[in-house]
Amino acid sequence: MQQYFHSVRLDEEKCKGCTNCIKHCPTEAIRVRKGKARIIEERCIDCGECIRICPNQAKLAITDCLEKLKDFKYTVALPAPSFYGQFKPEVTPSRVLSALLALGFHDVFEVALAAEAVSWAIRHYMEVCVDRPRPLISSACPAVVRLIQVRFPSLLEHIIPIESPMEIAGRMAREQACRKTGLEPDEIGTFFITPCPAKVTEVKQPSEGRSSVDGAISMAVVYGALLKRLEMPAPYPVAPRASGVGIGWGRAGGENEAIKAGSLLAVDGIHSVISVLEEIERGGLTDIDYLEAQACTGGCIGGPLVPQNPFVARVRMGNLVKLYSAGEPGDFPRDFDYYRLKTPIPARPALTLAKDPQVALARLEEAERICAELPGLDCGSCGSPSCRALAEDIVQGYARRSYCIFELRERLQQLAEEMVELAQKQPPAMGRDWKQTRDGGGETD
Ligand code: SF4
Ligand code: SF4
Repeated sequence: MQQYFHSVRLDEEKCKGCTNCIKHCPTEAIRVRKGKARIIEERCIDCGECIRICPNQAKLAITDCLEKLKDFKYTVALPAPSFYGQFKPEVTPSRVLSALLALGFHDVFEVALAAEAVSWAIRHYMEVCVDRPRPLISSACPAVVRLIQVRFPSLLEHIIPIESPMEIAGRMAREQACRKTGLEPDEIGTFFITPCPAKVTEVKQPSEGRSSVDGAISMAVVYGALLKRLEMPAPYPVAPRASGVGIGWGRAGGENEAIKAGSLLAVDGIHSVISVLEEIERGGLTDIDYLEAQACTGGCIGGPLVPQNPFVARVRMGNLVKLYSAGEPGDFPRDFDYYRLKTPIPARPALTLAKDPQVALARLEEAERICAELPGLDCGSCGSPSCRALAEDIVQGYARRSYCIFELRERLQQLAEEMVELAQKQPPAMGRDWKQTRDGGGETD
């Protein structure tokens, strides 16, 4: 049975084994073996870096399709805040929401509205829980949360115990739909319009119980389906309820702008996030109250499933934030428990060399010894992302030293020299020039 669900998959047919992806994976989850990339599933955090980097489009994200709407009596679209930044300036949020209804959804609920509510909950928590370790880390980006579970488990207590805007939007949308229609909660389907594969994984395999969201449909797919409908007159206008505070969450820095309390740091791009987390792990940045951390460069507008260039989307988002900044704060529950994560986020240490600490220590020492003997070029030709990773693969029995092409070349050279030496030691019967020796034997020249 598959232990973890992953949205990010490999299309074996398209993979050429070029090894481009292995070096960019933040958790060293990819190996190239027998000419094809393999994803180590317990390490993958579905950040989508490999989708961006693969020159052959061999990595893809599995998302739900629009057909899934048919499984429910009543459906609600949950557009991510970044969705508004994908359209030309004349396509207002009201037009976008209206076109979603024309596409087949019965209702819409803006995740930006839930983001406003979550901003309130974060501010409240920061005021009340002053004894929690600083900096607190945002729980909004599921790729960052998984990165911490897998690679920085000691920082789990820094993650603010508040659900993501997507989860809160799903819950609010279902409650609203139940009140409106009188249907049972299970008869209502909530669908997130997602900019990234990590959100798909969050929906399919949430850290607690069941997700309040029933499906995640790629933003690029919905965008394509909406374009035609946007050319037609709007069937019925839908007024957006979110203000600029919530819309701003769609781009890097927007979450902190919405919180506006204490000392705030925003970091985006998975490799920059890793350097900041490493610093926190070393005991640094205690002067920072809150860390907004997003795996994609530029925030959600930089997700692998967005159709628009992130730089263009950033400008559009900025204009929308200004335009809607005068909006009234949304009407949402002011009870903190409504937003609180019910169970602690568990660690998923996938980078250890063995479950048994003693075995792990012995393997670590052996890996260090092997690593010191490897050339240290981190060329990736062995199919592992670095010499260190190859050494760790060897001690775990997943690779052999001969995978290193430099070691292989050296061994071939030795072998060739041995063969030449052997060839010179032909038995006398085969030797061309044989001389009698004193002991009665002979030798070849
Ligand atoms: S980048 Fe990775 S997935 Fe893409 S072709 Fe190269 S090895 Fe295969
Ligand atoms: S999605 Fe991210 S973590 Fe998973 S294999 Fe690709 S780069 Fe690595």
